[in-house]
Amino acid sequence: MAELFDGIAQRQFNKILCGAISNAHLREYFNACFQEAIDSYGAYQCWTCINCMRQGNATQGWGAPPSRCTRCRSPLVYEIATFQSRSSIVGSAFEAAFFHLIQTHYRIPLTLTPGNTRTHDFEVTGEVAIEAKGSPSKVANPNSTFTELDRPGLERSDTKKKAFDNARTYRQRNPTGLFFIVSNAVPSDLVGYRNRDVTAVFDVNKTDRIESMILEIRGKVDLPYLQRQRGWTPT
Ligand SMILES: [Zn+2]
Repeated sequence: MAELFDGIAQRQFNKILCGAISNAHLREYFNACFQEAIDSYGAYQCWTCINCMRQGNATQGWGAPPSRCTRCRSPLVYEIATFQSRSSIVGSAFEAAFFHLIQTHYRIPLTLTPGNTRTHDFEVTGEVAIEAKGSPSKVANPNSTFTELDRPGLERSDTKKKAFDNARTYRQRNPTGLFFIVSNAVPSDLVGYRNRDVTAVFDVNKTDRIESMILEIRGKVDLPYLQRQRGWTPT
């Protein structure tokens, strides 16, 4: 499954970010990774009519359910619970997209967090932890309609709380480490936010914010050394 998301990130990176990178390119890249992941799993918004199904028929459609079935006029129309799987699909797509971007374009040697550590997704060394929380604001359905998803990324309070709780746990174990939260949707009250646990929140749709993150990483770890360890030319 991880390979599928890595493949998507690689393909979209080569298509969208092969030249100079602008904020618009970054947004396009993350959105394309989300959409390709949704396409792969068929995790669109859709509905079906239970009354038709009971009679051995099938009536269904893309997008939000209508108030009555388009065939039998029954109100027994329900949204199919694809939204439950969608959040883990787009979460994984975001992680893979971020990982690929930061490794390939910015040449930061990220690794997946080892072992049972659940507080963050990636690290540079144990001294630099990165928690990735991203999701799209809309999904394109196969009939060319769009489903708007409310509160993407860190705009959802549950998602923000989870990331902040993870930061607190990391901080208890690691008083001097850096803990970054990265997202494609950062609400205005979290722009430039810092507290004792969260070192910084970065919007990955903005090149200057990614560069700020890299400066902070450079200040903490010997980046040229780590790059040489990977067999890379130091940047
Ligand atoms: Zn029906």
